[in-house]
Amino acid sequence: MRKHLGNVGALLRGFSITFSYMFKKRPTIEYPSVKKKHAPRFHGLHELRRYADTKERCIGCELCSSACPANAITVIGAENSPDDRHSPGERFAARYEIDELRCIFCGLCEEACPTDAIVLTPRFEMADFRRGSFVYSKDRLLVPPEAGVGLAPDERPNGIPSDLGMVAQVKSTMESDTGYDATNRGIILKTQRRGLAG
Ligand code: SF4
Ligand code: SF4
Repeated sequence: MRKHLGNVGALLRGFSITFSYMFKKRPTIEYPSVKKKHAPRFHGLHELRRYADTKERCIGCELCSSACPANAITVIGAENSPDDRHSPGERFAARYEIDELRCIFCGLCEEACPTDAIVLTPRFEMADFRRGSFVYSKDRLLVPPEAGVGLAPDERPNGIPSDLGMVAQVKSTMESDTGYDATNRGIILKTQRRGLAG
């Protein structure tokens, strides 16, 4: 009899723990419609930016590629011509690729870039089934002319994912109103040393 009473007591203790959690705030979120807030310095998927006149910021200098410790960036530059001008400089990136499987998201490419062309956004949804899908070529990295032209991703209205380039069109699950605060990192980068804010 004492043994059975002990079992009932154990059951009641167990149920009391379950019931106590019914009235606590849930730690889980309704992903993917709701995203967790990132740390302000979170480094996610790259993008290539443009100037306000829609010209590409990248001048094909390959500094990002040289700075990359993971050898993840491939840049092949070419000369601009008066009839076919892509960037304000003499050169532009005829080919630009980042292998996101090699990337360690350190942000050194962003730091090395003299024109603020390559930036890391807070976007983290890059899962795919094929290795080749993780090599992001220029057409996937470059923001389209009509999307957030001239503004850093953190400075754009509604945050980053809603106006990313072709990447966002393919994987657009972001609720910018309820998602993470994409402006934090931009504010820190503007007011403190780039990429070194605490
Ligand atoms: S974030 Fe770091 S590892 Fe990734 S491409 Fe840039 S420099 Fe290379
Ligand atoms: S992204 Fe910046 S550092 Fe890299 S090639 Fe273009 S201009 Fe140079």
